[in-house]
Amino acid sequence: MPIRYTKVLLPVLTSDLEQRLARSLAEFPELADRTVTVGLTKRADGTADAEHMRIRLRIRRRRPVSYFTIGHEFTHLLQNGGLGVVPGGEVQCDVWTLARSELFLDDAPSYLCRHLWSRATWAHHAHRVRDFCLEALERRKTNRRYLVWLRGRIERHITRPRILAPEPLGTGK
Ligand SMILES: [Zn+2]
Repeated sequence: MPIRYTKVLLPVLTSDLEQRLARSLAEFPELADRTVTVGLTKRADGTADAEHMRIRLRIRRRRPVSYFTIGHEFTHLLQNGGLGVVPGGEVQCDVWTLARSELFLDDAPSYLCRHLWSRATWAHHAHRVRDFCLEALERRKTNRRYLVWLRGRIERHITRPRILAPEPLGTGK
């Protein structure tokens, strides 16, 4: 699974980023016989051009590119224009990325229920949300409204009362 780097990326390529890319790509056996090109962008955390098997990443000085961002952009390569094995859409891209591997739980998804968490609170929910994503993909086999189900499930989980109400009084047996 060769990775090609663009000329503009090479000067800022660190061994940390190289390792992150290799570890992430290893989670995508579908891309094993493809050459993926990695370049730079300043417009977003990342972008993808599935037709040309190319992703672009935003490199910041102080914060490494998250596995989530890399995974999200690789997942785009599996959507329309690319391999076409994952349904199109940004929310779908998040769901398939989170479901794919725990590696990609290191940063909050960009589109799925983004109003429900911040970068800081995401870590508390990440594993549960991934479980819900896996369940949603299972449900998708028989239920086209799996994303509606998933959003509702996540919302219930996040907004559930933290303190259990006392048990209702017995009826006096
Ligand atoms: Zn995207």
